[in-house]
Amino acid sequence: MNARSIRFKLTAWYATLLAIILIAFGSAVYFGLERYLTTRLAEQLSLQAFQIADTWLRQINRSGTEYIVNEIEEHISPDATGRFVRLTRSDGTFLYRSKPPRDGRFDPSTVAAVKPIPYAPRTREEHLAKGELLIYSLPYTVPGVGSFLVEVGAPYHTVENTLHGLVLIFAIILPIALALAIGVGFLLMTRALAPVDVITRTAETITSRNLSGRLPISHTGDEIERLSATLNRMMERLEGSFRQVVQFTADVSHELRTPLAVLRCELEVALGQNHLSPAAREVLESVLEETGMLSKIVEQLMTLSRLDSGELQLERSRLDLAGLCKDTIEQMNLLAEDKSIHLQCDAPEPVEIYADPLRIRQILTNLIDNAIKYTAAGGSVHIRIAQEDDQAILEVADTGPGIPTEALPYIFNRFYRVDKARAREFGGSGLGLAIAKSICDLHGGRIAVESRLGQGTRFRVAIPVGAN
Ligand code: ADP
Repeated sequence: MNARSIRFKLTAWYATLLAIILIAFGSAVYFGLERYLTTRLAEQLSLQAFQIADTWLRQINRSGTEYIVNEIEEHISPDATGRFVRLTRSDGTFLYRSKPPRDGRFDPSTVAAVKPIPYAPRTREEHLAKGELLIYSLPYTVPGVGSFLVEVGAPYHTVENTLHGLVLIFAIILPIALALAIGVGFLLMTRALAPVDVITRTAETITSRNLSGRLPISHTGDEIERLSATLNRMMERLEGSFRQVVQFTADVSHELRTPLAVLRCELEVALGQNHLSPAAREVLESVLEETGMLSKIVEQLMTLSRLDSGELQLERSRLDLAGLCKDTIEQMNLLAEDKSIHLQCDAPEPVEIYADPLRIRQILTNLIDNAIKYTAAGGSVHIRIAQEDDQAILEVADTGPGIPTEALPYIFNRFYRVDKARAREFGGSGLGLAIAKSICDLHGGRIAVESRLGQGTRFRVAIPVGAN
């Protein structure tokens, strides 16, 4: 899963937020319940303390101590209710002190004595060896007899047990709720973002050669529909501009073609005359060379604009790439011999492809021509043709000067030349590789380059063998 995707980020945010809310809610419930239970327990204790004071202690004069002890034992003793009860006289002696409860949860004898001086009723916590005891103390004065302190207590564990149960429920429910929310959230996010995936995939298929493609519109009235419509309008404008540029290039090259041809003819005629001075001849020869160069650029621009506009349709047929390569090499051998360059072809087996022979020959010529052009005399050019899986491979490697690494990403750009001055010396226009790439793209193939400065360059073309 891509941790940078919107889907992941939104789900993570949502899950974190949900976890925070659940934990905050759980804590609020925990502390609220703890307060409520403690208050309730304290209320019960105070009620019992008042019951002891108002019902039995009040009548101590009439009923005697034994009666009070019996009543307490019967109604509130630890055996009956698990409560701690203690009645202390003002001199610190106990009128009554309950026995330990059956479950042995606390030992009444370990509860520290409180001086029975009159003070306000209050609740306190007593920390005993086996746990906490919540005690309510009620000072009470019986007229004519004296002051007493009535204490009623209960183990705090009942509150704690309830709270532990609550924590347990939360510990089980929280991860389940979180996992469920993450799962459902992720699914919803995937559904909501599915149109974005479709837009991305469609947009990737739209290239300069296929600008007429449009993104699907979901008609949901949401932001995605607006985005798709806006992108489609932008692509319409792009398509219009692109078409204009292509048309302009095609028109310009077309318009230049005829005058250039006439110019060349006239220059050739002029050069054929005998009475020309050497200086005039030299100038005319140079102009003819420049005109030739210009004609080549115009031809290449024409080819490129036809490739761009889709006007140039491939005339595919079944052909043997190895045979085509050998033919081309034979024709270019003179060029190589002129520069004493060793041209070597490694094409042991026929490699059949379904392609346009004229265009494939153009790739071959451009690459081999470049290799011969840029390699110094005495160097060598090695061509390899092979089939790898369903791809026909053409490699042209030379021992030339190589291409700097920083120039490699731009090498297939139009009019890009590594060393403009030197390329001009070789008659380079910077369009040969752009044409080769366009032809490769049209055939559904790929062209790549690897090079080491001072050691040489290797171009690799891979074209799908293709169905017939
Ligand atoms: P050009 O007509 O200038 O050769 P290309 O498009 O064929 O145009 O090549 C573009 C640039 O790439 C060239 O100007 C040259 O700098 C560089 N280049 C192409 N092939 C080679 C090669 N085999 N060795 C070194 N540099 C090369």
